[in-house]
Formats: sequence, C-alpha cells, structure tokens
Amino acid sequence: MATAPPIDLDAALIDALRAAPFVVALTGAGISAESGLATFRDAMDGLWARFDPRDLATPTAFARNPKLVWDWYAWRRERISMAQPNRGHFALAELERRAPRFLLVTQNVDGLHQRAGSRQLIELHGNIGRAKCSREGTVVGQWEAVAGAVPTCANCGAPLRPDVVWFGEPLPEVSLAAAEDAMHRCNVLLVVGTSAEVYPAAALPEMARQSGAIVVEINPNATALSAAANYVLRGAAGDVLPALLATLD
Ligand code: NAD
Repeated sequence: MATAPPIDLDAALIDALRAAPFVVALTGAGISAESGLATFRDAMDGLWARFDPRDLATPTAFARNPKLVWDWYAWRRERISMAQPNRGHFALAELERRAPRFLLVTQNVDGLHQRAGSRQLIELHGNIGRAKCSREGTVVGQWEAVAGAVPTCANCGAPLRPDVVWFGEPLPEVSLAAAEDAMHRCNVLLVVGTSAEVYPAAALPEMARQSGAIVVEINPNATALSAAANYVLRGAAGDVLPALLATLD
C-alpha cells in the first residue's frame, strides 16, 4: 500500500490548536470514505448504481415510492453495520479527550463517530440506525421487518421512514442552534470531509470565521470553503487528523 506524503503542518496552526480552550470539528461524508462508505458524490455500486442518492434522500422520493427509498436505506444500514471507524474517527475521539473543551458536529448519519468513542456530539442530519413514523414523527430504534413492504408504525399504521434529515427538510432546531452557538464560541474549527455545499450546515464555518475562530479545512479536494479557510490541509482525514493529533504530544 502506498504511504501518504508527510503532512506539512504550519507552526502557528499547531500553537493555536495547543492553546485553544474550545475546539470544534464539523464532519461530512468524506470522513467515512476511508471506512468504505460512499459519499453522495461518489458513484454508488451494485444495485443502486443507476440511482442518484440526491434524488432518493428527499420527501418527494419517499412519497412517490416509499419502498424504493426504504430499501436504499436498508442497504446503506447494512453496509454501515459492516464498516469500521477509521483513523480519522479515532483521532477526533482522542482529540475530545485531550482538548479542554471539544464538540463534534456531524452531518453524517452512520454513527461511526460514536463507535470510535466520540461522546460530545451533535448529529445534524439524524441517524440511519433509527426510524420514525412518517405521519406522527415518533422515533423508534427497532421495528419489525415486513417482507416486500415498508414497516409500519405500531401506533397508527403509517409507513416508517429513516430518522434522517432529507434534502429540503429543516434541521432539528435544538441541534442547529447548539451547533451555531459552538461556532460563535470556538477558537479552532476543523472542517473535515465536507463539500460545504449542503445548507444550512455549509454556513457554519463562515459563522466561526466571523466570530474569530481559526478555520482549518481537511479534505483531499478543493471545496466551496477552501478560499475562506485560514488553513487548508490537503489529504485524507485518516492521514491528516492523526498527524494533527500527534503535534499535541
Ligand atoms: P459530500 O458527499 O458533499 O462531500 C464529501 C467530501 O468529502 C468531498 O469534499 C470530498 O472531497 C471529501 N472527501 C473524500 N474522501 C475524503 C477523505 N478520505 N478525507 C477527507 N475528506 C474526504 O458530503 P457532505 O458535505 O457531508 O454532504 C452530503 C450529505 O450527505 C450530508 O448531508 C450527509 O449527511 C450525507 N451523507 C452521509 C453519509 C454518511 O453518514 N456516511 C454518506 C453519504 C452522504
């Protein structure tokens, strides 16, 4: 396996991270790419290759064909259950233990941060491991699988849907408010594996920057945020985050 090139970390960034009373990380699908989970911009494989995930993760798609959407999430849930957290997830969990104050804000629904040991965490887009009633919104952690059909709510009989935020839906108010508050208060914001194109999460780094935080992008590719970040660390999260963590030793 090819080794990643050494990561060039600016001394001022290391000093800022060491001295920061409050560090926040904002993560997106890219941090789970090294765990084998596709981002929405990567091509899906197998059965789902001909679908654009951005057309399935919507209320309109569920209203049109609940079974199709439910099956896609069931397939993703299965892949997630077989995936393992990677070095990037573990480095953030370790950073939580080392920083005086730390918060992780994730757009991911895969639960890999928790499995890596992160505890101070806001899931902005829900979690694929839960479902909720499509009519009443009641959240459930378990449901009866129904052959050939979408499972239904035990209370009202409406179809269950995954407890995730779909494109076009509002984010949970309390979670978003807590994330925004953290942006205004943090000293360093690490933005990891997000294209910074899905709003309102994409607006969070700018809030942090305007409140005086040092914004660090960690991503192998240029994004909508790159030009506005104070530091851009080009590389995979699984290489860059452990390197950043090692500077705190
Ligand atoms: P995105 O798909 O828009 O962007 C992914 C970003 O990750 C890209 O900028 C890409 O360059 C970067 N990337 C790829 N490999 C990387 C690596 N090894 N290390 C660091 N960065 C890497 O993802 P998004 O910005 O999170 O927005 C898409 C939406 O899709 C979100 O709402 C998210 O909830 C959802 N989503 C979640 C998952 C998941 O939970 N694992 C998977 C797919 C999509």
